[in-house]
Amino acid sequence: MVAFSFSVLSRLRTRTQSIYIRFKHSATGRSPLNSVSKFESQRSGGGGSSVFSVAALSASSLAFLLQSNLSLCDGLPDDSGRSIRVGGKGSSSYVVKGSHKDLPREFVDELRSICQDNLSLDYEEREFHGKPQNSFHRALNIPDVVVYPRSEMEVSDIVKSCNKHKIPIVPYGGSTSIEGHTLAPNGGVCIDMSSLKKVKSLHVKDMDVVVEPGIGWMELNDYLEPYGLFFPLDPGPGASIGGMCATRCSGSLAVRYGTMRDNVINLKVVLANGDVVKTGSRARKSAAGYDLTRLMIGSEGTLGVITEITLKLQKIPQYSVVAMCNFPTVKDAADVAIATMMSGIQVSRVELLDEVQVRAVNIANGKNFPELPTLMFEFIGTEAYSREQTHIVQKIAAEHNGTDFVFAEDAAAKRELWKVRKEALWACFAMEPTFEAMITDVCVPLSQLAELIAVSKKELDASRLVCTVIAHAGDGNFHTVILFDPNQEDQRLEAEKLNNFMVQTALKMEGTCTGEHGVGTGKVKYLEQELGIENLRTMKKIKAALDPNNIMNPDLYGGTRSGNGPRLWPWPILMWSCTYVFGQHLELAW
Ligand SMILES: Cc1cc2nc3c(=O)[nH]c(=O)nc-3n(C[C@H](O)[C@H](O)[C@H](O)COP(=O)(O)OP(=O)(O)OC[C@H]3O[C@@H](n4cnc5c(N)ncnc54)[C@H](O)[C@@H]3O)c2cc1C
Repeated sequence: MVAFSFSVLSRLRTRTQSIYIRFKHSATGRSPLNSVSKFESQRSGGGGSSVFSVAALSASSLAFLLQSNLSLCDGLPDDSGRSIRVGGKGSSSYVVKGSHKDLPREFVDELRSICQDNLSLDYEEREFHGKPQNSFHRALNIPDVVVYPRSEMEVSDIVKSCNKHKIPIVPYGGSTSIEGHTLAPNGGVCIDMSSLKKVKSLHVKDMDVVVEPGIGWMELNDYLEPYGLFFPLDPGPGASIGGMCATRCSGSLAVRYGTMRDNVINLKVVLANGDVVKTGSRARKSAAGYDLTRLMIGSEGTLGVITEITLKLQKIPQYSVVAMCNFPTVKDAADVAIATMMSGIQVSRVELLDEVQVRAVNIANGKNFPELPTLMFEFIGTEAYSREQTHIVQKIAAEHNGTDFVFAEDAAAKRELWKVRKEALWACFAMEPTFEAMITDVCVPLSQLAELIAVSKKELDASRLVCTVIAHAGDGNFHTVILFDPNQEDQRLEAEKLNNFMVQTALKMEGTCTGEHGVGTGKVKYLEQELGIENLRTMKKIKAALDPNNIMNPDLYGGTRSGNGPRLWPWPILMWSCTYVFGQHLELAW
């Protein structure tokens, strides 16, 4: 075995948008971050200027002053030929449509009395919130208003007011989700939770922590480190704990510690009528009542706004070893991941990258990793146990054509390696900086993973698009990043076709269309096929009971807002039928 080391990158910034946009726009020289920093300084009070200062008023804010009914939602042209502003990039075929009602003046007055200065009508700020930072999905409209509540009570008052006036709500966390989750196709109110980021209480002896939803997992781990504790879920850098609950996310450590579903003890949630519900006690187990915690986790803001979370924590491992190994094919690599899990070793991470993804990592980070299918492992425990696991897996790898088995024990080197892995998605844009990425997220029973990756890889390699493979291989969860030129419709359709191929293959293997990224606006079309009509009907009943006016993220999970009442599932079903009949290419809009 050969020990290796990595130089520490200092380029990583904490805000996910910064990193993503840097990769995406480095080739064009555009600098879209100016407006982001402006919002941040406004919220923190750093600039000292109110969002309502006259100098800061945008054209749409002025419109607000002049009209009694507000129409601030100018995104893309709609049927009435209203003003044309930004939106998708030329093609409208992946734009989510929506129905937009002008905001009643009374409602905006109410909202302003609740939020005071923490409310923005600024066009750029609304546009920024209406455009996902990490996905290609676009919507016809953008939010009419962005609010930044400072307390649970404020959230409740905002939601109550929205419910009274039947105004759509989109909760907003770190905006790292990748299925168009934070779009506001019907306009309405974007509730940005970033001002609610306190650690409310830490119980070291119980190994749990109570936090507000806007805190990021990385910030939380910085806070916990001196106590020898950490929170083991690691989705996109910049993701918030509230958004992570809402998407039921996981990450590279889920193979050891489970997903968000397994790591939340209880929640507080503001329901559509403004009621604040606590879903359980702080006890680790409870058999009392329906499991409302698990109902809310993964509900993607469609059932309520999460305002407080109690999380299970883990001890920072005494010792760890990170290892890497190359293989001639991705199937060999996947076979080793499966054999490792079958050996009974409790790896804490096992990640697979194909040769294209390694090339992207090399280009983006100035690295020189062998451009071959690669497995990355982390072993934890005592020093002796970590090394023993490393040796066992080295043997397994050798039996499956593994070469160049290397490992790291130095703390900085290990941190650097996982950082590079975590940013692998953004690294892809180093290959095609002006392209968009379609990211697949299928997950299958572990025994099926090698076959799924092998058949998918054949399709991906045959495509003219650049496609990379990244897998949380110990969980049977694998992603492809498919890069396409958003100005070339045929390329987007080709990406859709590949995505659909993998979803259909995974479903045949009793898998899922989304292992961890969630449904958003992008995966709705697969739900009926995966879950069955009875399942969807049950979800519809839950949604109608908790949100009778269909105001909570009305477009996610297939809701729609034409008229005031809830209209759910028929649309995704129709969409899926169209997919089936018309050769599997269709608009994501409905
Ligand atoms: C580079 C990169 C790597 C990634 N890696 C992973 C990975 O390994 N594993 C993984 O699972 N995901 C991964 N993701 C996806 C993403 O980080 C997760 O989906 C994350 O959980 C989203 O959190 P967020 O705070 O950014 O949520 P947002 O994007 O802000 O919102 C997501 C959804 O949650 C809702 N929401 C947000 N806050 C609340 C709230 N307080 N109450 C109710 N609803 C709310 C929103 O309305 C929206 O529907 C990655 C993303 C990127 C960009």
